[in-house]
Parts: sequence; structure tokens; C-alpha cells
Amino acid sequence: MFYRELAEEAERYLEVVQGIRRELHQIPEFGLDLPKTRERILASIHGLGEIHLSDKLSSIVLHIKGGQPGPTVLLRADMDALAVEENTGLDYASTNGYMHACGHDLHMAIGIGAAHLLATHKADLKGDVLVWFQPGEEGHGGADVMLEENMHMITGSKPIAAYGIHVTSSWQPPRTFGGKAGALMASASDLIVTFTGRGGHGSSPWMAKDPISAMTDAMAGLQTMINKQFNVFDPVVVNIGWLKAGDDHTTNVIPEKAAFGATIRTFSPGMLDNLKKHVTAYLEGTAAAFGVTVDIDWGQYATEVVMNDPAATERVRKVVREAFGEQAWMEWPHPIAGAEDFGSVVREIPGAFIFLGAAPADSDWQNAAPNHSNRAVFDDSVVPSGCALLAGLAFDVLNEAAAKA
Ligand SMILES: [Zn+2]
Repeated sequence: MFYRELAEEAERYLEVVQGIRRELHQIPEFGLDLPKTRERILASIHGLGEIHLSDKLSSIVLHIKGGQPGPTVLLRADMDALAVEENTGLDYASTNGYMHACGHDLHMAIGIGAAHLLATHKADLKGDVLVWFQPGEEGHGGADVMLEENMHMITGSKPIAAYGIHVTSSWQPPRTFGGKAGALMASASDLIVTFTGRGGHGSSPWMAKDPISAMTDAMAGLQTMINKQFNVFDPVVVNIGWLKAGDDHTTNVIPEKAAFGATIRTFSPGMLDNLKKHVTAYLEGTAAAFGVTVDIDWGQYATEVVMNDPAATERVRKVVREAFGEQAWMEWPHPIAGAEDFGSVVREIPGAFIFLGAAPADSDWQNAAPNHSNRAVFDDSVVPSGCALLAGLAFDVLNEAAAKA
């Protein structure tokens, strides 16, 4: 009953949180340094608790102290936008060349609203809540920087649960929550491969060492090798996104170098290391067969698999059903191959990541422009539901802990 009342209370925030979201939508910022975004959030959480800022990145941690002592729960909202030129035609569309095309503006509004719900009822809160506003989710490792800075340890004890919400413009019916226990999102990594041979005359390839043939053989065989070395029920995606070799002004030259770049997705812990081992052996073997050398670069940063804790996921199902009804939960049949640095958070703290359908209510959501599209449209009337779920989860975790103590 309490969660339904919390959801009704959150609905009364609708106009305010929509307003905040639309303001944030017009000032999208990229990466780890988001000064305007940080200012805007700070203006809306003033007086709710203790504020912790970093000077390495534009993060904010809001520490809400409950009326009764108890453990800590972490709630996370990401803050950064994408380098995408908006083409939605909305009257509050961004005009600065960046776009909140992944809905992180809604996540910030959800975090702000959840913080207000928790602060309003803090006398009944049996422990503390840390609300993380985190920059640099889109491949900049913001969550890892905040963990390195011990932003999860502010109360002196490690949080016993962590939750985060992600909105989607197309992957799930409007106004429903979804997810699953176990792997929810992939580990993502880069693979940049450069073959170096010896340049020469195109008429006489045996007198040179052609890196292009080594590269094209390696590219073609890579998928077959993966098919033979990896269990099909623990999938691996290796997708080549670019290749470079030679000069398109000439056909009779063997170049010295040829290179390609791929993205890699894996879905179980340790699988990325296993993949690196096999891919390295395969590429080195292929290069050796052609008499060239190969350099393999795995990129700056790999995200962890987002592993939802089974008990934390069960808590989400329970609170969603109690607050919004049975039909509001959609169990996912399998993970998605997108990635999230929240994977680093749930590696440290048992928790769950949850998706929230934010396609406009009357839209053909399955065919709508997806997250990251310059045409992606998110219905911000779902924000209060997100606020109520995050606040409700924090209450549920702390009430259960108090009952056990
Ligand atoms: Zn996102």
C-alpha cells in the first residue's frame, strides 16, 4: 500500500520534474565535465542533505540521512549527453550540437524527484541514502572514477544495495518497467588491429609482405574461430566497424600497413579475458602465416557486464507490482548487447538496473527512433514513476534490514 501512495505522491511532482528535465534537455554537456548540468541539479536538491562534490569530474553525491540509524542504499542517475545533433522538432530541443539522446536528462529528473520523496519522509527512513549524479556514462568511465574516489563510502559503510533506472524510447512498452536477474547488459570493449608488412610493387606480391591479405583473411576467419571456440549459449559479438589499407589513387602498390577496428560484447564475467586470449592467438597465427606482424590494442576502457543481483531484482518486481500493478512489470527474456558503466557499481554492490518505457503513450513504440538516435523522443510524464520506484526501493531495502536487525 505504501508504494502506491508513494507513486501518487510522486505524480504531484509531475510539472516540476518535467520542467527540470526540459531545462536540462536544453543544456546537454558531454563527457566528465558538465558544469551547467551540475549547477542545474544543485539548484534543485538544495537543503535535502549533505552534498559531496569532486573536482576531477562534475559528479554530485547527495547524502540523505534517515531519521533512524541503519545501513546505506545507493541510487544512481547519469548526467551526460551524446555528440548528436538533435532533430526531434521539439520546442525544447537542444541547439548546441549535443543531445540528451539517451534520456539521461530524465534520469537526473528521476534522481531529483526521488531525493525529494526520500527527504520528505526521512523521519521514517531507517538508514541513509546516497543519490549519485554521475557524469561520463557514455564510454567515459564516470562510474569507475566515482568508485575510485570512494563516493560510495561516504557514510563510512559500503551500501548494501544499488539501483539505477534507464529510460528507453523504443525497447519496451510505454510506462512499463523491465529487466531480469543475472546478465542484463553486455561488457563492451574495443579491438583495434594493425598488420605491418613490407611495402612493394603490386605486380610482384611475393617480393613484398602484403598486410591486406593477412587482414582480410583474419577478418573473415574471426567469426568462424569464435563459432568453434565459444559456447553458443554464452554469446560473443565481434563486429568490425572500420578498415583501412592502401590508397584509393593507386592499385599497383602494396602498402606497409592495414588495420581494422571492432566492437566486442560479452555477457559473462571473465569472458572478455577468455576472448582476448583466443583472438590474440588467432591474429598472431594468421599474421605469422603471411609473414607480417600484428599489433592488437584493446582500447582504453571496457565496461563490466551489468549483472543484476537476483534478490535485488526480485525486490524491483515486488515494488513495481505493488506501486503500479501487475501489468507494469515486463520480464526480459534475455540481456541486450548495449553496455553501461553501472556494471562497475553492481560489481561492488549487489543491486539491479531497471529499464523504463518512455515512448510517447500513443506511439508505435516498437518502431520508434531508439536511444542514441537524433530523432529519439522520450515522454517525460514517466519521470514521477521512476522517482517513486527508486525511493520505494530504498525504503524497502532499509525496512527489511531494520526488521532483520
Ligand atoms: Zn544511456
